[in-house]
Amino acid sequence: MSVDIRSMTKEELAEWLASFKEPKYRGNQIFQWLHREKALSFDEMTNLPLTLRTRLKETAEIRPLAIKERQVSKADGTEKLLLETVDGCLIETVLMRYEYGLSACISSQAGCRMGCTFCASAKGGLVRNLTPSEMLEEVFLFEREKKEPVSHVVIMGTGEPFDNYENLMRFLSLLTHEEGRNLGARHITVSTCGLAPKIRSFADEGLQVNLAVSLHAADQERRKELMPVAKSFPLPELMDACRYYIKKTNRRLTFEYSLVKGKNDSLEASRALISLLKGMNCHVNLIPVNNVTESGYERPGKETIRAFQKSLEDAGIPATVRRELGPDINAACGQLRARRTVTVHTIRET
Ligand code: SAH
Repeated sequence: MSVDIRSMTKEELAEWLASFKEPKYRGNQIFQWLHREKALSFDEMTNLPLTLRTRLKETAEIRPLAIKERQVSKADGTEKLLLETVDGCLIETVLMRYEYGLSACISSQAGCRMGCTFCASAKGGLVRNLTPSEMLEEVFLFEREKKEPVSHVVIMGTGEPFDNYENLMRFLSLLTHEEGRNLGARHITVSTCGLAPKIRSFADEGLQVNLAVSLHAADQERRKELMPVAKSFPLPELMDACRYYIKKTNRRLTFEYSLVKGKNDSLEASRALISLLKGMNCHVNLIPVNNVTESGYERPGKETIRAFQKSLEDAGIPATVRRELGPDINAACGQLRARRTVTVHTIRET
């Protein structure tokens, strides 16, 4: 089997090359080709001897992603891509343009096994974890196309990043590597459904990467109904892990809260949320739910959303409503992939 060369750390690359008697500086050169130049073939690596390029072609692969489908929003230019891995897995990636630059929302797994009832990605279960190289490619592919750097990366696409913890950590360290892509850690946000022990491990990593936790309900029973993961990691355990994260990192934590009409949008629900979060260094991101799972979940009306937000702010908890980009292409939440996994034919991009 070929070596997944772009998933290797700089040190691993040097060690691997040493095993066939190549000097250390060749490792540095290849690392720069892969991560700074974003090369997709060994032929591009023109400062390497031909014999080495041939050897690399025979033993290693860079794991490209093929674009299967593209949707571009007429409203705001948001782009959503359906991508295929070399072994035929489908994933989604979204590119959004903000005032501060381009933001890529990337997937960490093909499918997901967390089973949140409102989420389209949960439908077919987990297919497999994405490799660090594939996650990097989700970012690099846009940069190659747009000839402009992506300034922010959010790991909020398909999958649960903390269920693919080792590959995620490797991806983060490669993406932020000074001699590689060198993206600022503070420009990256990881979103988790609440795997409490992994939140603690993440806090211990000592990174400047932002963390968002999908809460969606402030009481255990309601949360269990929306997110089965709450059975394994009940709310008190999750909140302890969140407090540990804030204390250990001294960073502000974001809680995501998808508003579902009649489920978690009442004033009583907002009071429960306030008493849960009071005094924590946090911010709440309210997401009006997208009805994608035939669950019958609907988003509340504008006034209810505004009242919910205001009650949090009045209690001193900063709260924003997620700005909706790409409304005409349904940019949110795994819908392209969900549709594709049940259709047979594909529209190939040329
Ligand atoms: N597994 C990670 C990333 C998932 S997607 C996590 O759970 O955080 C990012 C956010 O979108 C999560 O907060 C998720 O709960 C939310 N989400 C998923 N489907 C949604 C939908 N149909 N409507 C609104 N929010 C949704």
